[in-house]
Amino acid sequence: MSEYRRKGGTAEWHWRESCPNWPDRDFERRRDKPPGVPFCKRCEEIDRS
Ligand SMILES: [Zn+2]
Repeated sequence: MSEYRRKGGTAEWHWRESCPNWPDRDFERRRDKPPGVPFCKRCEEIDRS
């Protein structure tokens, strides 16, 4: 089960732990895909690779 994380004070959500910007502290977390918000481009690249 994946989760979405967003670092405090930033707008983009991440969902790949291998993302270089994956927040490991001071983050907000949710289980479902957040609606109508920006998503991390690096996480998208990881999904496509
Ligand atoms: Zn990311």
